[in-house]
Amino acid sequence: MRTIERTCCVCRSKADKRKLARLVSRNGALLWDDQQRAPGRGAYVHLTSECVSKMGHAGKWEHVLRLSQGTLAPAQVSEVTRGLLQEVQSKVPESGGWKVKQVPGRGVRR
Ligand SMILES: [Zn+2]
Repeated sequence: MRTIERTCCVCRSKADKRKLARLVSRNGALLWDDQQRAPGRGAYVHLTSECVSKMGHAGKWEHVLRLSQGTLAPAQVSEVTRGLLQEVQSKVPESGGWKVKQVPGRGVRR
């Protein structure tokens, strides 16, 4: 099977398209194109909490999707980000190994 690679616009590394979320804009809104079939320019982000949580502001997506400034509403962009983050977190396997994110010494309050 042919692998189609796309670049994650958060961490700039390439990945199999199926491991990325495709985002498009439609009528001034940022949309998650979960079928990856919507026409127009799309931008990709890894379906990992690490990349999704760094998706950033409306301005970044206007730049990535080549929209004019002020096209996207910041509140709507953060809503999409939150939705993606929830999706990513719900897909974390119970015993997949990468759920263990506790780094020794981190998060310890003095
Ligand atoms: Zn990434």
